[in-house]
Amino acid sequence: MSSEPHDPNCIFCKIIAGQIPSRKVYEDEELFGFHDIAPWAPVHFMLVPKRHIPSMAQVTPEDSALLGKIMILAPKLALEQGCRPYPQGGFRIVVNTGAEGGQEVHHLHVHVMGGPRPWLKG
Ligand code: ADP
Repeated sequence: MSSEPHDPNCIFCKIIAGQIPSRKVYEDEELFGFHDIAPWAPVHFMLVPKRHIPSMAQVTPEDSALLGKIMILAPKLALEQGCRPYPQGGFRIVVNTGAEGGQEVHHLHVHVMGGPRPWLKG
C-alpha cells in the first residue's frame, strides 16, 4: 500500500472516476475493466485496480488478493467479450511494466486480448 489512492494526472484514474469516457466491461469496489481504445486484437480490454498502483514493480504481498481476483476475472470476462473457449479459443494476458517493458500508462493495467488470429505474434 505504498501509493496514493488516486493520481489527478493519471488518465486511468480519470477513466475510473468517469471524467474520461470508456467502454466499461467490469466494475466492482476495487477493480475497473474497459476496452482498449487502440485494440491490438479483436477482443482487447484491460483490468485495472481503482487504487493508483503505478505498475507491477510496486505491488506488495498486500495486493495478492487483488491480483488474484484480476486473474480469476480475466477468463470469465474474455468469454463474455467474445473470446472463444479454451482450448481452440483462448486469450493472452500482458502486463507491460516500466519503460523497457513497454508501459506507457503508469497505472497498473492487465491487458486481456483474444479473438481469431492473425493478430497473435510470438
Ligand atoms: P502501450 O501503450 O505500449 O500498449 P501500456 O501497456 O501502458 O503500453 O498500455 C496502455 C494502453 O492504454 C494502450 O494499449 C492504449 O491503447 C490504452 N489507452 C490509452 N488511452 C486510453 C483511453 N482513453 N481509453 C482506453 N484505452 C486507452
